[in-house]
Amino acid sequence: MADSLQQAPVAEASRNGNVEEYDVLIIGAGVTGLYSLYRFRGLGFSCKSFEDASGVGGTWYWNRYPGARFDSESYTYGYSFSEELLQEWHWKELYSGQPENERYLNYVADKFDLRRHIRFNSRVESCVYDEDANRWELTMQDGHKARGQFLITAVGLLSAHYVPDFEGIHDFKGPWFHTGRWPKEGIDLAGKRVGVVGTGATAVQLITEIAREVGHLTIFQRTANYCAPLRNRPITAEEQEEIRARYPEIFEKCLETAGSFMHEFDKRSAFSVSEEERVEFYESLWQEPGFKKWLSNFYDVMMPGPANEDYAEFFRNKIRERVKDPVVAEMLTPKDHMFGSKRLPCESGYYEVYNQDNVLLVDVKKAPIQRITENGIQTADAHYELDVIIYATGYDAVTGSLSRMHIQGENGLTLQEKFTEGPRTFMGISSVGFPNLFTINAASVGNFVRAAEPLVEWISNCIAYVRDNGYQRIQPSQKSEDEWTQHMIDGGQNILRTQADSWFVGANIPGKARFLLTAPDTAPQMRARRAEIANSGYAGFSLE
Ligand code: NAP
Repeated sequence: MADSLQQAPVAEASRNGNVEEYDVLIIGAGVTGLYSLYRFRGLGFSCKSFEDASGVGGTWYWNRYPGARFDSESYTYGYSFSEELLQEWHWKELYSGQPENERYLNYVADKFDLRRHIRFNSRVESCVYDEDANRWELTMQDGHKARGQFLITAVGLLSAHYVPDFEGIHDFKGPWFHTGRWPKEGIDLAGKRVGVVGTGATAVQLITEIAREVGHLTIFQRTANYCAPLRNRPITAEEQEEIRARYPEIFEKCLETAGSFMHEFDKRSAFSVSEEERVEFYESLWQEPGFKKWLSNFYDVMMPGPANEDYAEFFRNKIRERVKDPVVAEMLTPKDHMFGSKRLPCESGYYEVYNQDNVLLVDVKKAPIQRITENGIQTADAHYELDVIIYATGYDAVTGSLSRMHIQGENGLTLQEKFTEGPRTFMGISSVGFPNLFTINAASVGNFVRAAEPLVEWISNCIAYVRDNGYQRIQPSQKSEDEWTQHMIDGGQNILRTQADSWFVGANIPGKARFLLTAPDTAPQMRARRAEIANSGYAGFSLE
């Protein structure tokens, strides 16, 4: 399939006055945008991607902060669609870092000659549906326009970076930025007094790395996290050979699991074994790399309840063992949310940073940040002098990047207005009143590429079906959307992901409706459901 797609003739854009017209418009040239281009081009559609950045990579373009790396095993994260690509690429580390990941996506763009279908430095400001013409019209920040019958938002889960609206934020005289907009040319932090706001997965990677070079580091923490040792290491050439031979087996395994990782829950309950055996099992997982500690555990550790709390306490004790000052250790020990209710930050020496003399942890839940001053941060009880401020304050996840674009469908309704109380969609990918629009940015909170690849394939096949059967428009029926939205509410009730105040439910953004932003279903359930829909001629959608 992949090879025939690669060899298909390229459909050309047409022109309407000054505006280029395509069959398919794609926003973004990250993991899903690149694969969308490859698929649609191969299926004979004319297509173009519009990318805000000056290069490909999406998440792996923007997040160039020190320490940024995968938390999925590298060889499970790469694309699986091309055997040639799998055989050519050598993942050098078990959990590959940002520079290598960006190189990989550039390699893919070049290998499949995708770059000529991408317009870089193109920030999309609006996407307006022209009902009479059945065309989406995009307007970029520089005034450039493009029209197309179908629109794909391949903008990622976590791309709308969020900086809190602190009073005086622009008064600060030194450099300040969000981790997701790290300066491409880098920044010299050697010897500087650096402040980091936030202690999520991003901050955990960043802090560990920059603590080696800064003069003094002040960390402003609102909520402590459970963090697990990553245990990264190089992948030797021999190992890579062995991985290449096992790719079919590796991808098969990923397809079977809930979050598309290689890891599988233990079928035993935590309390079906003795305490001694339980702790021994926890300890053995602790020695394993990456998410095994999270996703290969007793199955009931991943459910709200006593097993979850038992394992949470094991984690808390690990923190207490690693941080020398007991007061600081308690500040770093999470007690207000369940283990696994947020994505588990992986670390490589994070807690030991707090044993350094030049590192200070500030509790901004107790004494919140009041304002940013010319030379630092003022909290409710002290002023901290800083040369540089780094905001590792997260993202307006999933819907944020859509809302920021002004997507206007039928009858002038915008997606932002429609999603005020939370996203109303069918399977997270389409919404009534927005014909021919597919939002693929909520593909997965698990191993992203493993879940995104089949989704991109499903959407491209769906659009090919629309074309090949003489239809012009597709959108979900009201009934499908209503039932799916209710399913999101019901299905989210008892899963860990909805139990904490995190981006999973939009709770990290002031004023955002609390609503589960990604499907509560497992990846195999989602694929099965989509397959059933496709096999029944896209039941649940209305085709015109
Ligand atoms: P995040 O998990 O949302 O963390 C944001 C941090 O900023 C939190 O500590 C938050 O505190 C803090 N914060 C936000 N507003 C604040 C305010 N007004 N005052 C003080 N503190 C404030 O964002 P993230 O760390 O960028 O991670 C987001 C997601 O990206 C992760 O869950 C993960 O899925 C992904 N990620 C993956 C990797 C990887 O290894 N591949 C690395 C980094 C990120 P509260 O907790 O109190 O809200």
